[in-house]
Amino acid sequence: MVELRGVSKLYGDVAALREVSMDIEHGDLVGIVGPSGSGKSTMLNMIGTLDRPTGGTVRIAGHDVSTLTDQQLSALRANVIGFVFQQFHLAAGVPALDNVADGLLYAGPALRERRLRAYEALERVGLGHRLGHRPHELSGGERQRVAIARAVVGDPQLLLADEPTGNLDSRSGAGVMELLRELNAAGTTVVVITHDRDIAASLPRKVEMLDGRVVPEARKGVVPEARKGPVEGAQA
Ligand code: ADP
Repeated sequence: MVELRGVSKLYGDVAALREVSMDIEHGDLVGIVGPSGSGKSTMLNMIGTLDRPTGGTVRIAGHDVSTLTDQQLSALRANVIGFVFQQFHLAAGVPALDNVADGLLYAGPALRERRLRAYEALERVGLGHRLGHRPHELSGGERQRVAIARAVVGDPQLLLADEPTGNLDSRSGAGVMELLRELNAAGTTVVVITHDRDIAASLPRKVEMLDGRVVPEARKGVVPEARKGPVEGAQA
């Protein structure tokens, strides 16, 4: 789904990414985690094709991003990638149904079809009873669910969530994480950018960033606990 090879991103003399190589497979649920300034947002911009690398290769769903025109990149983003942001980015004063329906503007079905699919997406995130609510009439957790519905209304293969629980209390945040897990279980590849170690720890895979580099991942099955046999005398 995502293939980075030797990807660097320089801002003047600041290296935000230094020769990062990493793969994300179809069906992965992965956290990109690290302290502030470690390069997470830059990584999101690369994976989301929002910016081009200074060096190296970015492939998304088999497309080498460097070979695509800006128009082709827009099409790739609209058809393959869904975005969720910490600040929700919903249109103020616009009912939930139309906020979600607008997620299909690029794909271009007629309004009636867009609204029907928006309704289905809102049902999917548990907000079928809030279609006419405007963002200011919704709780933070509900707003993020609307934003997730908008991100998935076009059925993207890849969902990128940038600090999706950053503006939520822990309970709403847990609900949003649960929803992302459900979407992943239904087949969407999900990438969550977070500086929250608890959220990262709850995900099956972590990519740890430090100083523009990816910290080598612990290989599955070689953690000491996994090697221990049954504890002698333990109750069955
Ligand atoms: P994170 O998301 O982990 O906080 P970023 O990817 O935002 O990290 O930033 C990585 C590094 O690149 C930081 O040192 C940051 O100051 C620098 N950086 C990011 N974006 C820019 C930019 N547009 N111009 C200059 N420096 C930038």
